[in-house]
Amino acid sequence: MNATVPGALRAAPSFHADPAAAYIAVNSFDKPTLVISRDRVAAQYDALHKGLGDAHIHYAVKANPAPEIIRLLVKKGSGFDAASRAEIELCLSQGAKPENISFGNTIKRASDIAFAHSAGVTLFAADSEAELDKIAAHAPGARVYLRLIVENSMADWPLSRKFGCAGSALPALLNHAVAVGLVPFGLSFHVGSQTRKAEFWNPVLDQVAPLWHAARADGHDLQLLNLGGGFPAFYGENIEAPRAYAAAVMRAVKARFGDVPQVMAEPGRGLVAEAGHIAAEVMLVSRKSADDLHRWVYLDIGRFSGLAETEGEAIRYQFVTPHDGEETGPCVLAGPSCDSADILYEKRPIHLPLALRDGDKVMIRACGAYTSSYSSVGFNGFPPLDVIVL
Ligand SMILES: *Cc1c(COP(=O)(O)O)cnc(C)c1O
Repeated sequence: MNATVPGALRAAPSFHADPAAAYIAVNSFDKPTLVISRDRVAAQYDALHKGLGDAHIHYAVKANPAPEIIRLLVKKGSGFDAASRAEIELCLSQGAKPENISFGNTIKRASDIAFAHSAGVTLFAADSEAELDKIAAHAPGARVYLRLIVENSMADWPLSRKFGCAGSALPALLNHAVAVGLVPFGLSFHVGSQTRKAEFWNPVLDQVAPLWHAARADGHDLQLLNLGGGFPAFYGENIEAPRAYAAAVMRAVKARFGDVPQVMAEPGRGLVAEAGHIAAEVMLVSRKSADDLHRWVYLDIGRFSGLAETEGEAIRYQFVTPHDGEETGPCVLAGPSCDSADILYEKRPIHLPLALRDGDKVMIRACGAYTSSYSSVGFNGFPPLDVIVL
């Protein structure tokens, strides 16, 4: 740990009040490491909480399951959106109360439902008859919310097609829930992850609101509107501040839904992404031939060791290098593994300093969400992303 090693990152002025960046600037790492600051997660929670008003936050655990973060959020009063038995156990082990955990995956193992039920979890998601039957069998009498498919997602990482039922299927599913002894408690949707502007929620809310009102008019006493996630992180393109963004979403909800007894939001990325950065290293800079216009820059981290969201070049991370401010040029950026899919950015090359060399330290900004949880156990023997929680 030596701040004066050649190629070490200089601390830029903007690193003030950014504990993870400050930590990375003065330490060396022998493998890719996510450094994440609890203070920054707490500040982000407070901002979202103020903007969301009465809506209850259920942190989407998959975004970053570090036990220290779960424990912090338990202390802050957060609830949790869990997708599996292991995530439920993690939350319980860090002090979460089962009544503050929702089992939000619409594709659950029957034995996991039974486990959740026995642990005291009472709120489950579903988007099909078969899943309702499973819940009725293994968590009799539970409260369920039905997830809707929404269209027109303007998210950078859409979640649209895989989950949810069509609006036309909702009345039958609500009736089925009643028929099998469950309590149809509410509706949920997800605008898509990294929805950069609050106004992008409007067309989605316009789809859900009539279904909500129709279900209530049909006699279903829905109590819960679950807004899902979608709250954005700063990856270089302008976004609204979290409090203003959340407040704008809540105004849009209120305008369409009126008074809803319980509103829930499930931020993942928006809570943890900006709180952490990855310390990485350049492994190689090369060209394929003497006249190749493209430089290839290979990092010690790639698609399989934490940067899965570069799939389709959807999430475009920002890189801090020891040569920032010097002349840059386009390059293809790739990971270290022996899989040709392990390319991060090629269609839209990124610009990095021409002076970049193997051994240079690189910091990848705003990596607190969807990195450590996506990192494989060791493809090609490259270790999974290390995590340091400050
Ligand atoms: C992943 C997920 C979230 C979190 O989404 P973000 O865009 O990261 O905020 C919320 N709810 C559900 C059901 C999810 O699957």
